[in-house]
Amino acid sequence: MKYKCGVCHEVFDYLPEICPICGADNKAFREFKEEIVSYRKDTNEKFVIIGGGIAALETAKAIRARNKTASIKMIFSEDKLPYKRPALSDFICGDMLFSDIVIENYNFYKNNNIELYKNKTALKIDTKQKVVLLDDDSLIEYDKLCLACGSHSFCPFELKEDQLPIKTLRSYKDAMDILSLIDKGKKVVIAGGGILGIEAAMSLNQKGLDVTVLERGECVVKAQLDRKSSDLLRQALENKGIRVLLNSTVKEIKKDSVVLDNGMTLFPDFMIVSMGVRANTSLALDADIQVGKAIVVDDYMRSSDPYVYCAGDCAEYKGKPGGLWIISSAQGKCAGANMTGEMIKYSVVPFATAFSGLGVTFFSAGNVHSGDTKTFSDKNSYKLLSFEDDKLIGGILWQDTRNSSKLMKLLSLSADKETAVEKLLNS
Ligand SMILES: Cc1cc2nc3c(=O)[nH]c(=O)nc-3n(C[C@H](O)[C@H](O)[C@H](O)COP(=O)(O)OP(=O)(O)OC[C@H]3O[C@@H](n4cnc5c(N)ncnc54)[C@H](O)[C@@H]3O)c2cc1C
Repeated sequence: MKYKCGVCHEVFDYLPEICPICGADNKAFREFKEEIVSYRKDTNEKFVIIGGGIAALETAKAIRARNKTASIKMIFSEDKLPYKRPALSDFICGDMLFSDIVIENYNFYKNNNIELYKNKTALKIDTKQKVVLLDDDSLIEYDKLCLACGSHSFCPFELKEDQLPIKTLRSYKDAMDILSLIDKGKKVVIAGGGILGIEAAMSLNQKGLDVTVLERGECVVKAQLDRKSSDLLRQALENKGIRVLLNSTVKEIKKDSVVLDNGMTLFPDFMIVSMGVRANTSLALDADIQVGKAIVVDDYMRSSDPYVYCAGDCAEYKGKPGGLWIISSAQGKCAGANMTGEMIKYSVVPFATAFSGLGVTFFSAGNVHSGDTKTFSDKNSYKLLSFEDDKLIGGILWQDTRNSSKLMKLLSLSADKETAVEKLLNS
């Protein structure tokens, strides 16, 4: 039997206690039935995918499910097979192996005749000749190309030799670099109090490090939480010994210290920067493909070039870049299907975050910062729903997250206020 997480839609052949992708607890899981693909078109086309993340892998799977004979090539800079990137937050605890986070092993690629160009970087796309130039000077021809090249961590600091080590957490290599710096009792500063900064803080605190989180605003995890739930989370962090400094930004990084703009000086052994991501757009820009905040795609995941599709963190749909696993996976499925000739429209997936740790569980989905809000709280839990024109646009479930899948469902239906309140606040 297989199980699908109702929050991130990832499928597992076992029932996890906590979803390793999105952190949802196991109440969010439902039995999964394999999707039956009825479209079929076997050709000799050459499909090339640049990327080795979930968007690239789902693109390759969707192509092969519809076309058994075409050639599929996946080109990616990392020297590891596609893995569950969100699990890197737990990986830096040091108790996991790569085999725990890899998505498919080599046999999968062999059995599905997907050629891997591992450890190779695409330097340029020539959309007229329809070729991709790699860093080993080879040229790869394509009939249809998918850009699934993801994003990179944003780091506003100049990295200098004579500074204390500054790291970001985006790849397996980054995780290994951080692991090499970890030792019980060491001090770390995490610049950025968003969800990824907080997850890293928790992992390092669990390893016995002395952790300080810097947040330039007044709330941690402000994209997903309102003031009340953010304060509850900060309290939970501080109860575990994680220091949270609000309204604090880094002014200067020295050899052995970090100076804040409020004049405070911290003396960490290393610093992790968790200040958001930026889409990888340089290949597209260089090829004159339309780019906004990320690579612009239409309802069918097509870029402005008719033979180039795009999916995942590097794609921008209706003015918004994705930035989530579930979105990358759904866009990869859609791009791959459409590359074979099927015409499937991308259906928007609500932004959602699940969190479990420090004795806290929360789930946040959609837009929780605008519109009218309705809240409910008791001794153990807190719920917030937000509405625009009396339609549900977002929600937070604090501690009692049993209704997280229901919230996702109601959001995708833009449920009216009465129904949402009845199903989510009164039950
Ligand atoms: C620590 C961490 C925790 C996260 N937690 C969550 C979470 O809880 N929930 C959630 O929904 N999301 C989470 N995310 C975000 C999620 O992992 C991403 O949204 C998702 O992995 C994006 O997938 P992608 O395939 O679009 O891109 P990526 O996974 O970034 O893959 C892009 C690939 O393209 C390759 N590439 C880039 N440029 C080139 C080039 N020129 N040539 C060849 N290869 C290239 C890269 O090497 C990489 O292999 C987390 C991310 C991180 C880093």
